[in-house]
Amino acid sequence: MTQLSLVIPFYNEEDNIEPFFRELLPVIRSMDVPFEVIAVNDGSTDQTAARLCEAMEGQPEIRCLTFARNAGQTAAFEAGFRAARGELIVTLDGDLQIDPRDIPLMVDQLRKDDVDFVYGWRKERKDTWLKRLSTRVANAVRNRLTGESIPDTGCPLKVFRTVILKRMKLFNGMHRFFITLAHMDGWKSSQMIVRHRHRQHGKSKYGMWNRLFRSLRDCLAVRWMMKRHLKYQVTEMVGRGSPKNSGDLTGARGHWEQS
Ligand code: UDP
Ligand code: MG
Repeated sequence: MTQLSLVIPFYNEEDNIEPFFRELLPVIRSMDVPFEVIAVNDGSTDQTAARLCEAMEGQPEIRCLTFARNAGQTAAFEAGFRAARGELIVTLDGDLQIDPRDIPLMVDQLRKDDVDFVYGWRKERKDTWLKRLSTRVANAVRNRLTGESIPDTGCPLKVFRTVILKRMKLFNGMHRFFITLAHMDGWKSSQMIVRHRHRQHGKSKYGMWNRLFRSLRDCLAVRWMMKRHLKYQVTEMVGRGSPKNSGDLTGARGHWEQS
């Protein structure tokens, strides 16, 4: 039975695909657990789809989903989450900026810390100063508005128990809020410092507008969701003649699932 599902969105990453899988597969195989890699082609207009088909040849662990048109990173993640069969889902980007050697370490940490998910922190980011600055501002404002203290909400490398993501209701742009949305549902987490590398091929898909302004607007939506999140504890009362096995119906969803 599959234990590990890796979900990776690709949008116009034609030159990254071959080196990406060449580096990733030996690392995941060394973990010695049944795994699948779900690559999601987010409506690329370059040779990404063709390169993914080549990558699949002779590699039964690689599955590819493809979108008719570009639908955004959150949609790509969601399609991958729905298809995932593993007990754990690893999310990462397909642009080689994440070092796959951090994946086994993160899975180990999830077990050692006995948490439901682990998220990365690209402490030494290898990006342009403008990107680093806009990310820093965006993180600070997000934390301020959501009451969190997450150093790097946008770090793509995360490991989740699958149930967390299968039941998460997603909207466009919400991939930046996976951590907060999972916390809202009561799941426990820990953080891990991960390596980061410069992009060698292709271009970043986000500019200032997306990274900063759009994500801040999304942040207000998440803040609203947190305020309106249903929180209650309910117990079925036992009256005369009620069946004896009526139990605790506690409504906090994460809590209910874990107990
Ligand atoms: N991506 C995607 N759909 C989009 C934009 C990006 O699937 O509409 C993918 C992209 O191919 C990459 C990941 O999401 O694998 C992160 O994108 P990018 O590297 O451009 O973001 P950055 O690292 O600059 O924040
Ligand atoms: Mg990137």
